[in-house]
Amino acid sequence: MTSSQKLTRVTQIGAVNAYLVAEDDGLTLVDTGMRGMDRRVLAAAERLGAPIVRVVLTHAHGDHVGGLDALVRRLPEVEVAVSEREAPLLAGDRTLRAGEPQARLRGSYPGTRARAGRLLVPGDRVGSLEVVAAPGHTPGQIALLDARDRTLLCGDAFSTLGGVATTARPNPRFPLPGLATWHRPTALETARALRALRPARLAPGHGRVVDDPLAAMDAAIARGAR
Ligand SMILES: [Zn+2]
Repeated sequence: MTSSQKLTRVTQIGAVNAYLVAEDDGLTLVDTGMRGMDRRVLAAAERLGAPIVRVVLTHAHGDHVGGLDALVRRLPEVEVAVSEREAPLLAGDRTLRAGEPQARLRGSYPGTRARAGRLLVPGDRVGSLEVVAAPGHTPGQIALLDARDRTLLCGDAFSTLGGVATTARPNPRFPLPGLATWHRPTALETARALRALRPARLAPGHGRVVDDPLAAMDAAIARGAR
């Protein structure tokens, strides 16, 4: 676990991240890891001495939502938020919408029993986090920009495991997020849009948190576009 003042990363098998974001009213949990992550997350919250008051999911892949049901059982009052587009995927409906690239969905969408009580669209705020559209890896992925310090929780739009990479093309050193990507041209567009936000820190779903990530994001986008 690494932590700064506002952000605490909780890891599972050294490769899967969830984040606790400190707010005045408690903690926002971003993603829930795979099954079994709930115990790690609850232990981390206890060390921080604050309650988890809400959960935001960046997307519906199994390594981001797998811990949700166990957490909700332990925290029945917690608010669960997911993007409006990702909500059906979380509920097991894999139908693509008219107007979307009709590419095959990749990766695991196990679904959850828990349903989101709040549906998010880009521009919404969740505490200090601004919701940013980040489609491509999945149809409705979101990223979250902390307005206080410009930390970008980017889901699987970028990975930093095996070096900073987009998921528009599998990184040979950690190919999984790239292989699980739904539509690579959209993922590349998203990588560019997130870079344009000039984040001060990049906090990905897989890999360590990277400070001052702009040069590394530019290089990753250039590789992704090849
Ligand atoms: Zn994913």
